[in-house]
Amino acid sequence: MSSLQDRSRQFLWHPCTQMKNLETVPPLAIARGEGAWLFDDAGNRYVDAISSWWVNLFGHANPRINAAIIDQLEKIEHVMLAGCTHEPVVELSERLSNLTGLGHAFYASDGASATEIALKMSFHYWRNTGQAGKTQFISLQNGYHGETLGALSVTDVALFKDQYAPLLRHSVQMPSPDIRLVEAGESDETFAIRCSEALETYLQQHAETIAAFILEPLVQGAAGMAMYHPIYLSRARELCTKYQVHLVADEIAVGFGRTGTMFACEQADIRLDFMCLSKGITGGYLPLSCVLTTDEVFAAFYADETSKGFLHSHSYTGNPLACRAALAVLDIFEQDKVIEANRVRAERFSALLEPVRHHRRVEHFRNLGMIWAFDVQNVTPGFSTRAYQAALKAGVLLRPIGNTVYLMPPYVVGEDEMVKMAMAAQLILDEIK
Ligand SMILES: *Cc1c(COP(=O)(O)O)cnc(C)c1O
Repeated sequence: MSSLQDRSRQFLWHPCTQMKNLETVPPLAIARGEGAWLFDDAGNRYVDAISSWWVNLFGHANPRINAAIIDQLEKIEHVMLAGCTHEPVVELSERLSNLTGLGHAFYASDGASATEIALKMSFHYWRNTGQAGKTQFISLQNGYHGETLGALSVTDVALFKDQYAPLLRHSVQMPSPDIRLVEAGESDETFAIRCSEALETYLQQHAETIAAFILEPLVQGAAGMAMYHPIYLSRARELCTKYQVHLVADEIAVGFGRTGTMFACEQADIRLDFMCLSKGITGGYLPLSCVLTTDEVFAAFYADETSKGFLHSHSYTGNPLACRAALAVLDIFEQDKVIEANRVRAERFSALLEPVRHHRRVEHFRNLGMIWAFDVQNVTPGFSTRAYQAALKAGVLLRPIGNTVYLMPPYVVGEDEMVKMAMAAQLILDEIK
């Protein structure tokens, strides 16, 4: 174990980690990054096949994002957004509004805070409009919306939630349209419609107490890249409108091109009440999140009474450096026609993964945009750690979720990186039980 790994174990508390496990699986000590590659302090390099927990879009140490942040650093690094404003946050809000059709942007620093904001805003909207009884939230089975107490209340991942159950607000989960649960002879679409019927049954009985339905559009990331048919989003939209419940799209993981369109909801062409963004928004550079909402929601808070306003704040709201990184990201999307370029990139990678798709241990191979995932059969406890270690030896950084191996690389991977990732996937299938 290197001294950096030792000091890390001694003085840090790593996220989502049983610290004792680091005795045998020490943290990877990263010295630098370049494009899709990470370099450790011994000089070994690894393809960042999961985009540093789904945040990185255009590689590490990207010259264009670096330049934008350095330029901003010379002007103003931060100023509070209560009572002040600045060019980067205004321009970012304008551009996000143009991209999403949602005209009002509220900022925070991480995904979980965005969830908290959307839930509070939804509740407060109903209160301001005379429906204070709408105090409940519903979400999808196996959904993930962050781990602060409010966000965890609508999250449905037992490993993160069970220990804290006594602290959480009650919320109800609707059946997930996860295509892995489709029954024999049923199409993905029919199954999604069947799930939406269960949603309707619930709304019929409880809508007057429900403020919002929050979901991850098209891909439930933490559930193991569970994918579903876009008809579910269209149906959810219709039902939320019919029963007067807000629809909150948590695009924190899937926004910014991940599913093949700029935002996943575009694939169902639906109007939203709230959209939560984070992760890729700064290209994986700086913590920033954003909740976008409609003129109608905004108008319900616009009043003479202070208490009708949305009195929520975070110290680093709208940080100029983070906003400049986000603007550089939007520039890259436009200048490099990233959505189109990714289509070609994805086709190539899918072709390289053909042997993986047909491997005898692979179940539910799935791909959407720049996300690939498959479930591995016949695994034993500890599979994900052993798969991680085997891939690392082969020069690829992966982080399987249970028996699901997924690849979610930055949008800069070329032939070499794709070949390496495909080889690592093959190696896991051939060698790791
Ligand atoms: C990561 C994630 C969050 C939480 O974001 P943090 O920045 O980790 O708090 C919420 N929702 C989804 C869908 C996510 O993937």
